[in-house]
Amino acid sequence: MLTTSQRQLLRAISESGPLSRTELAALMGLSKGAMSGIARDLIDLGMLRETGTAPSKRRSSTKQGRPSIRLDLQPDCAFFVGISLLQDPAPMVLSDLNGNIIARQSMTLSRDPEIIAELIANELPKLLGQRAQAADKLSGLGIALSGFVDEKQATCVQSTLLGWQDVPLAEMVQRKTGVVTYIENDAKAVAVSEKLFGSARDVPNFSVVSLGDGIGCAHVIDGKLYRGNHGGAGEIAHCTIEPGGSPCRCGKRGCLDTVASMKAIREMALAQGLKCTSLSDLEQEAAGGTAAAISVLHKAGAALGLAIAHIIQMNDPGMILITHVEGSFDGLFGTVMQQAIEANVLPRYAGQTPIRTRRVDSDIWARGAASIAANNFLIGPNTN
Ligand SMILES: [Zn+2]
Repeated sequence: MLTTSQRQLLRAISESGPLSRTELAALMGLSKGAMSGIARDLIDLGMLRETGTAPSKRRSSTKQGRPSIRLDLQPDCAFFVGISLLQDPAPMVLSDLNGNIIARQSMTLSRDPEIIAELIANELPKLLGQRAQAADKLSGLGIALSGFVDEKQATCVQSTLLGWQDVPLAEMVQRKTGVVTYIENDAKAVAVSEKLFGSARDVPNFSVVSLGDGIGCAHVIDGKLYRGNHGGAGEIAHCTIEPGGSPCRCGKRGCLDTVASMKAIREMALAQGLKCTSLSDLEQEAAGGTAAAISVLHKAGAALGLAIAHIIQMNDPGMILITHVEGSFDGLFGTVMQQAIEANVLPRYAGQTPIRTRRVDSDIWARGAASIAANNFLIGPNTN
């Protein structure tokens, strides 16, 4: 079991990259002697290694030409399992402390939590068997799902997709597997993954918007995931964007999900008599001058842009990261979205917030789930 100081040191390196002992002591507010003692213990435990002269992201305190020993994480000192309940079959991945996926397995998806726990326990040895020492160094298991999750990352408060209410899934899985388990909302898991291992590592305030069949969203504020009072912070999918609009699966009308999700875009295209099955198809039709395709992309792009403008107006984030599994933002959809963002924020905010878009593969949710376990390992449980 790691001490708080040991976790702090690992976390500091995880956030900044390799650091010298002097930099670490300053960051942690410790004397160099005290810090060196903690580092020595972590080196003995095989969790840290001394490395060459690569400068840290934060700063370099050494004069040019003078070699400096820095401390870096030993990525294979701890492994984490991530499982996505958003796909069938449900992917399971094994990741190291740098977020690299080093083994994968899959399992049939069930909506029965007891069966899910049983399936995970059955498949886990097959996943761990793919990597030497994985079972010994396994330090946590994370599960990403669609729905609200409590602040302890233990209970699924509500999931429309899975038909759950107050399901203590983490405890059920932990009982079957003997591995400390956390669950998290899909978009929130992606936000933690981006903060820990991805493009948002150096950004203290940012929002992730995930565009797929549904729209997910999560906010990191002051370096921490913001979940709100009921775990529902960031759910832009069900913000009313078109009052009195189409019915949504949540029971309301005119939610962003009914206008700008990939499912909505496909349905709107179909209703217009278009045979497009993907965003790329629709973009092609629009580029060829098909009025119906142009109208659908306009409506969806404007709605997504308006919702993002609201996030910028409310939170003033340092970055909006849009992840998407299909299509691209180079066409009409992305252009209209960008215009709607600029047109709906205060003029002094316009153009000030970087909007990054990233096409992601289907590993995104399982990788996010593993990062939830890694994050808890690095900062200690239940403090985010
Ligand atoms: Zn809704």
